[in-house]
Amino acid sequence: MKSLSILGATGSIGSNALEIIRQFPDRFTVIALTAKTQVALLARQIVEFTPRLAAVVDADHARQLRALLPPALDVEIVFGEAGYVEAATCRETDMVLGAMVGSAGLVPTLAAIDAGKDIALANKETLVMAGAIVMEKIAVRGVKLMPVDSEHSAIFQSMAGHGHHGIREILLTASGGPFLNRPAEEFTSITPRDALRHPNWSMGSKITIDSATLMNKGLEVIEARWLFDIDFSRIKVVVHPQSIVHSMVSYQDGAVMAQMGVPDMKGAIAYGLSHPGRLPLDVPSPDFAHIGQLTFETPDRARFPCLSLAYRAGEQGGTLPAVLNAANEVAVAAFLDNRLPFLGIYQIVDQTLNRHCANTGSDLGQLIEADRWARETALALIHRQER
Ligand code: NDP
Ligand code: MG
Repeated sequence: MKSLSILGATGSIGSNALEIIRQFPDRFTVIALTAKTQVALLARQIVEFTPRLAAVVDADHARQLRALLPPALDVEIVFGEAGYVEAATCRETDMVLGAMVGSAGLVPTLAAIDAGKDIALANKETLVMAGAIVMEKIAVRGVKLMPVDSEHSAIFQSMAGHGHHGIREILLTASGGPFLNRPAEEFTSITPRDALRHPNWSMGSKITIDSATLMNKGLEVIEARWLFDIDFSRIKVVVHPQSIVHSMVSYQDGAVMAQMGVPDMKGAIAYGLSHPGRLPLDVPSPDFAHIGQLTFETPDRARFPCLSLAYRAGEQGGTLPAVLNAANEVAVAAFLDNRLPFLGIYQIVDQTLNRHCANTGSDLGQLIEADRWARETALALIHRQER
């Protein structure tokens, strides 16, 4: 029996994880669940999975949550960053599923590692911001870090039995998002509604926009650099619109190992939770004759310049990846709020990076300060555009 704390239980990854846990009650038990503000859904999850602790963003939402629960239900409700840390470090918890969105996941994830918990990590922003710190802590504490992002789960699986030895390149596949074939001159008219319509994957709104700009792939390049300790020059992105090949690893003898599956996050989540075993899931294998063709192409960095921004920030390192990530979070939120055009996301991130005095030091304090500075700067740039 594995005891789990799920950070971001009410999101797309969190809900999928709970669906898996529901199917395997003899394998998993839930110790803690967290959400930001979706208290009605969290209350239903608490009633069903009976965690002993739940955390939400603030005291007000904690009160709302309490009011929604049967008075006899024995669950401690906490809030704020300290509450999320409590959820991530419960004494009984074996593994923490990091499925919050954005940099909010960083501090609870670090606390979980410090407390000796194994980690299944979907929250890629944590590794983008502070990959060096996370990986060092993982090594020092000797805990397990399982990638949940489908590409990184695929790379992990493609390395099984080979390890790091003889790797030539990592090939991250990208669906290309909803605008793969849209001409550049039509990008100015893209609305949040258009961008939220992902062709293959059903995900939370932030990552769906990141997929449309290809920033998601850029964040994943940085994520791969840390998870697999490989230089940026050996991480390549290849567009694969069918999203069947989840990613690949090429070896020095020319062999390429790939992991395939239908585009359903349940596979990668379940593998993260159950490794080294595999769970009997109700996910079909790809029907190759029906699919017919698997195609691959080079990403168009002129139409999707966010990819180059992420390589630039990742290669320069220091505080730049944290700045890239924070500026992107702010810009995506403004786009979803109809306060910034689609192309403005790239512009705001680029301008924020250009204004940043890159700090080569990158202790946690410096990264958190860089995150704060980038949010403030990106917001000011957006306000200036609005005037
Ligand atoms: P969602 O937006 O669907 O869910 C996010 C979850 O985090 C919700 O539970 C939300 O609570 C909570 N949350 C949001 N903001 C905060 C905050 N500031 N503090 C605390 N909790 C917060 O996101 P996804 O499930 O799509 O993605 C989660 C992470 O997994 C992201 O980092 C994403 O990049 C990554 N990922 C997602 C994939 C997917 O298929 N969805 C695939 C690969 C990676 P509430 O519901 O109350 O707002
Ligand atoms: Mg991914």
